[in-house]
Amino acid sequence: MKFHIFTLFPNLFESPLAEGVVGRALKSGLIDIRINNIRDYSTDKHGTVDDYPFGGGPGMLLKPEPIFESIRSNIRNRIISADSPLILLSPQGRTFNQKVAKELSTKEEITLICGRYEGFDERIRSNLATDEISIGDFVLSGGEIPAITIIDSVSRLLPGVISSIESAENDSFFNGLLQYPQYTRPANFEGLEVPKLLLSGNHSEIEKWRRQESLKKTKDRRPDLLSGASLTEKEKEYLDAL
Ligand code: SAM
Repeated sequence: MKFHIFTLFPNLFESPLAEGVVGRALKSGLIDIRINNIRDYSTDKHGTVDDYPFGGGPGMLLKPEPIFESIRSNIRNRIISADSPLILLSPQGRTFNQKVAKELSTKEEITLICGRYEGFDERIRSNLATDEISIGDFVLSGGEIPAITIIDSVSRLLPGVISSIESAENDSFFNGLLQYPQYTRPANFEGLEVPKLLLSGNHSEIEKWRRQESLKKTKDRRPDLLSGASLTEKEKEYLDAL
């Protein structure tokens, strides 16, 4: 899968994308990340990319010309396909979650446009972007951290990127629930013991316990998720009885 990034701060991507799961996926060619500096597409000799908002107000807005041109020239040169998603990163977008990550992981390529300053001239939003995504109800200084967040979570869902697909399937949100509690050695840490069942080798009982713990934790911490999870009648009864 290919990720096209448009940013004013290309260096911010270097280290986060060089290490760990994403770094390995890049090295093995499972993903490709192309970083474009929006300033390279400025239409004046000063490299201007922002300007004052009409009507007044604080801060500067990203001008339409450099962003339109950066995307259009990549489409003209067939680096970006015209029908692939052009995603504006913005606190005003639909909220990113595991479902959106899954949806994006089915695409061959996506483009992520990172804002800065006070954000984008509205025409970028209404006449260029095909989607707008927020990583949560808070405001960051730029779209680079959201872009890295999206690349990381989408990449994890691509075949071959993490060592066993099972570990993505066991992650929180994959099946609509939070993950069950997990323990590693030692079995007794300062008197805090691991649940005995996990040491029993009884895999079907362990599976059952994990599902119940997952339901319990979700009901306790994120009851809003339960309505979207696929639950059996027995599981619904278990939840009611908690
Ligand atoms: N004035 C803008 C508003 O209220 O919508 C916020 C501008 S913010 C300081 C600068 C840039 O950071 C945004 O254009 C966007 O690209 C990025 N950004 C900030 N918070 C974000 C979030 N929660 N999700 C995605 N991008 C975000």
